[in-house]
Amino acid sequence: MCEFDLVVVGSANADLVIRVERRPAAGETVLGSDLVVHPGGKGGNQAVAAARLGARTALLARVGDDAHGRFLLDAQRAAGVDTSHVLVGGAPTGVALITVDPSGDNSIVVSPGANGRLTPADVRADLLEHARVVSAQLEIPLETVVAVVRNLRPHNRFVLNPSPPRALPDEVLAAADPLIVNEHEARVLLGSQPGDVPEEWAAGLLALGPRSVVVTLGSRGALVADGAGMKLIPAVRVRAVDSTGAGDAFTAALAWRLGLSEPLDIAAAYAARVAAFAVTKAGAQESYPTVGEVL
Ligand code: ADP
Repeated sequence: MCEFDLVVVGSANADLVIRVERRPAAGETVLGSDLVVHPGGKGGNQAVAAARLGARTALLARVGDDAHGRFLLDAQRAAGVDTSHVLVGGAPTGVALITVDPSGDNSIVVSPGANGRLTPADVRADLLEHARVVSAQLEIPLETVVAVVRNLRPHNRFVLNPSPPRALPDEVLAAADPLIVNEHEARVLLGSQPGDVPEEWAAGLLALGPRSVVVTLGSRGALVADGAGMKLIPAVRVRAVDSTGAGDAFTAALAWRLGLSEPLDIAAAYAARVAAFAVTKAGAQESYPTVGEVL
């Protein structure tokens, strides 16, 4: 019996956000709005997005024993996430410094802090035992993601969002079903000269070994690919306010729906609705819809 629809293994960060007219170039200083602090981190975002949709969700993460850590735990609990596996202490809570311009595009610098101290020993096999789907990103040490893969049970579906992107061991790639990347992540994983054709990226990524691939293309939608073929899932047309966390909303919704045994293209179409909702509001976690709002 699976106690959790989704166990998210990943980062939890305090997002420190400033709105700017123009994002600064190297060496440049620009003035921005008052600071706003949002709960974030790819792991935290995905857990909240799934829980708000009604998925029974647990987060395995590490935060500092500090005010940001307590702020993040409160946000998770308020969304209905099981935080009993969130570890506390070892380093300051992770922080992301985010600038957002009027078009909704952003630039982000992350200080991993406690996220960097989530170790392979923190990955408990009994937690994965109780999960339908396990998702991970790369804002935690790669060896911890490797430990997740090695502890997967036969009934677990593993969803990997390799962000920030880096070269991955074959055993991690082979477990991903799907590997979910945005355009930037696709280019990094594919290496030099990947060209400009998303279908070629998807084919190239499949050749790296994952069982399936999803390439998210912002307002152009998402390309899903597996051994059976490829399909473009169009984005839902909305007025974009802030794209922060859109990919996390997409990944969480997709992971949850895959755990309900939906086919990849159907789950991706649902995820596109959830992500479109998220870009119409500021912030990441605060912008995520409930299941009723998606309808
Ligand atoms: P990331 O946030 O990781 O950079 P993307 O920008 O590709 O990822 O966005 C993820 C998904 O969110 C897209 O596949 C799409 O479904 C949705 N999305 C993103 N931007 C928009 C937008 N402007 N309008 C509608 N949907 C969007």
